[in-house]
Amino acid sequence: MTRRYSAWTLAKEGLRGHGGWQQAWRSPEPKSAYDAVIIGGGGHGLATAYYLAKNHGMRRVAVIEKAWLGGGNTGRNTTTIRSNYFYPESVALYDFALKLYEGLGRELNYNIMFSQRGVLTVAHSEGEMEIASRTVNAMQINGTDAELLTPAQAFDKAPLLNRDPRARYPVFGAVWQGRAGVARHDAVAWGYARAADGLGVDIIQDCEVTDFLVENGRCAGVETTRGTIRAGTVGLAVAGHSSVLAAKAGFRLPIQSYSLQAMVSEPVKPCLDTVVLYMGTGTYLFQSDKGEIVVGGGLDRVPSYAQRGNPPMQRTVLSGMLEMFPSFGQLKMLRQWAGNVDVVPDSSPLIGPSPLAGLYLNCGWGTGGFKSIPAGGWLLAHLMATGSHHAISRPFDLDRFVTGRLVDEAAGSGIAH
Ligand SMILES: Cc1cc2nc3c(=O)[nH]c(=O)nc-3n(C[C@H](O)[C@H](O)[C@H](O)COP(=O)(O)OP(=O)(O)OC[C@H]3O[C@@H](n4cnc5c(N)ncnc54)[C@H](O)[C@@H]3O)c2cc1C
Repeated sequence: MTRRYSAWTLAKEGLRGHGGWQQAWRSPEPKSAYDAVIIGGGGHGLATAYYLAKNHGMRRVAVIEKAWLGGGNTGRNTTTIRSNYFYPESVALYDFALKLYEGLGRELNYNIMFSQRGVLTVAHSEGEMEIASRTVNAMQINGTDAELLTPAQAFDKAPLLNRDPRARYPVFGAVWQGRAGVARHDAVAWGYARAADGLGVDIIQDCEVTDFLVENGRCAGVETTRGTIRAGTVGLAVAGHSSVLAAKAGFRLPIQSYSLQAMVSEPVKPCLDTVVLYMGTGTYLFQSDKGEIVVGGGLDRVPSYAQRGNPPMQRTVLSGMLEMFPSFGQLKMLRQWAGNVDVVPDSSPLIGPSPLAGLYLNCGWGTGGFKSIPAGGWLLAHLMATGSHHAISRPFDLDRFVTGRLVDEAAGSGIAH
């Protein structure tokens, strides 16, 4: 059976009628015990399983997913990848992820369609330009790429941008991160799943974790719709459902779940080479490889587990799009959807031990956890395998809500995605 993807194997299989491809991952029955179990088959859970096997040599590992792989936020997001944060802790985290993304297609032997087309964050006033230059300074000091652009340079990156100086949100300048970009979200989940499976990880779909097995005050496994599974260590990577599972484990998290929605237009000819975000409205967009304009915006601030959008948010996001690109008023919108995002008050993730010994957290990524999938998986794997923090994840421990050492990106960068 052919497993490796390459031009050579494609040609070989083409000549044989494509009958020899191995399935991308197996569908095993759950075993009664594993060394490590990860709850949640989104990008973070699958990446954790892969790095547990690859970096730490663990083979008896399972990912338990209640529905299908990547069916949560990983398959619903707008795929923007960047590290334009303010605090050193955040830049260290998101730039680590960006560097891993830069080699991920080759590492996983899977085309994740990572396109480093840059992110243009547009400022609309002298005041916003002050904030923009503070962000650029912070990013450069923290060792990642950033440039402050004039309006002419911004128009150069996105020629169809609204050039009207009397616009409600005129273009005063912009922050540019050229290494940022987009990737194919399903491919990131599938690539990690396939590579983890190749290292012996059991990926179990259609299996919901309903409770935790607790022995001597320690998490000893999970109860699922397909039976009890014992585990030496358990990781939680369920995004918008983190509070629900934390409640079953007997603790509360400083997380609020909200719906975040996005939409796409009909495909059109290439007209936009980069990702553009307006600081004034929070609306952002880019053109997908298929030609669709992918548009997203801010949170619907009504706590919810709904996975669909609503007309008031659509109106807000689309009016933001028309502020940026008036010519896009001619586009027909094709689809709209939403996901459940897990938002922490300081808009930074929670990575670390939970109050229940043996259970580790990877959550609170809110509106921005696609970009961090490789780092989130790497860091949770490190915690689960060693029982201690990697230096990059330490600042994101739950204990920051006791010590007060918040990583307040809500105030620092103020960018939603
Ligand atoms: C509209 C939208 C746009 C976004 N845009 C961006 C963006 O541009 N850039 C960016 O970086 N981020 C973005 N995000 C955020 C990003 O998608 C998430 O932060 C990220 O995908 C979280 O990944 P995850 O693996 O933690 O969670 P998920 O992908 O949600 O995976 C969690 C999985 O856990 C499973 N699960 C839940 N409960 C249980 C249970 N009891 N038992 C077993 N399994 C369970 C779910 O079915 C799900 O598959 C966006 C999100 C949305 C909704």
